[in-house]
Amino acid sequence: MRVDHFDFVVVGGGIFGCYAALYLAGGGAKVAILEKEDRLFQKASLVNQARLHSGYHYPRSIATAAMSDEHKARFTEEHRPFVNQTFEKFYSIDRYGSFTDGPQFERFCEFLNIPCERVTEHNLFNFERLEALYRTEEHSFDPVLLGNYYRDKVENNAGITVFKKAQIQRSETIGNEWSIDLKLETFNLKLSTPTVINATYSATNAINQIFGVNELALTHEISEIAFVHSPQFGQRGLTVMDGPFGSIMPYGLSGLLSLSSVAYTHHKISFDALPRFDCQMPEIDPACRPEAPGICTECPRRPVSNATKMLAQMQQYFAEHVQFTQMFSYYTIKSKLKASHIDDGRPTEILLLRDNPKFYCLFAGKINSIYEVEKIV
Ligand SMILES: Cc1cc2nc3c(=O)[nH]c(=O)nc-3n(C[C@H](O)[C@H](O)[C@H](O)COP(=O)(O)OP(=O)(O)OC[C@H]3O[C@@H](n4cnc5c(N)ncnc54)[C@H](O)[C@@H]3O)c2cc1C
Repeated sequence: MRVDHFDFVVVGGGIFGCYAALYLAGGGAKVAILEKEDRLFQKASLVNQARLHSGYHYPRSIATAAMSDEHKARFTEEHRPFVNQTFEKFYSIDRYGSFTDGPQFERFCEFLNIPCERVTEHNLFNFERLEALYRTEEHSFDPVLLGNYYRDKVENNAGITVFKKAQIQRSETIGNEWSIDLKLETFNLKLSTPTVINATYSATNAINQIFGVNELALTHEISEIAFVHSPQFGQRGLTVMDGPFGSIMPYGLSGLLSLSSVAYTHHKISFDALPRFDCQMPEIDPACRPEAPGICTECPRRPVSNATKMLAQMQQYFAEHVQFTQMFSYYTIKSKLKASHIDDGRPTEILLLRDNPKFYCLFAGKINSIYEVEKIV
């Protein structure tokens, strides 16, 4: 069987895998990206709320808030054509049941040194439900345009080979190298490499198992991002803090608003190491298994949309004349570190789980933390 040698094998072709591959190839390395699907960027890197985090969203995790802010300027600078920086963004505190309140949120913003201006009157909002409203500075990246950009960059980089529809059958160590058996659509291949980087997000533990390294303690949720538009609200954003509330904001430069709610976005939860759900039927659809989850938006067994419930929940924060029209929804699996339940943090973890040969596990938090890989690898 043909054996191809690479300096690095990156498993997973979302934004974290693509960025890691470009960074390593930029240093002269020969890199392979192994992607399960026939296209890069079809999972969490496409289906998300597109919030370019500045820290506001994490009043209970200073670490996540600070990490978001740390990378925001660089991310914006390097992805300027794909970032919507022109909309008005509001954060607010629900009058009932919030884990934070106005004074605490203001202290938090002051600590992080992020702008937050109290707004006491506004004809778009319902102040009977809002304890406090703030005009903030938060932007939105465009996942579709980012996907096009990264696909083009990695597929035209002479140092990177992209293997799509790739299935890792098994792996073993031979001396200081990994030997990986790869099944492709029309032929099989062996890869050898001294370093593997696992950037598969919801499939993290499945890949860790194949390489015989420790699993991460994760939970997995089938999540829905609904898309809406509103002539009255236009291209603005509102996020209601902090607890089982929601958010409506521009999805990059698409002209649509993404809608999500802590109560209704997440349809099913799996506490297993692997994302195991009752909608998976490997005998009918082998492209989606707990060991190798598929593309939820394209699945006929995806959950029935909660968009109407999300809208009803969010509508309470708006003045009566502000109406939203529901368009369509995207679905994907959201995976989180179990430890995040304590403070709702979303750190990006990069762990060296084996040395010589090396195996790094890159578990992504926020999209603008793609640069964390540079600190470690
Ligand atoms: C609902 C939701 C909302 C979010 N909102 C935001 C937000 O507003 N702002 C923000 O910054 N972040 C947000 N996030 C988090 C962010 O989207 C993720 O942290 C980020 O996209 C993860 O990128 P990734 O490249 O690691 O994973 P992915 O984009 O999921 O890429 C992983 C890749 O690995 C591939 N793969 C899986 N299994 C295998 C296998 N066996 N072999 C080969 N390849 C495999 C997949 O097909 C996929 O292409 C959100 C996430 C979700 C789900």
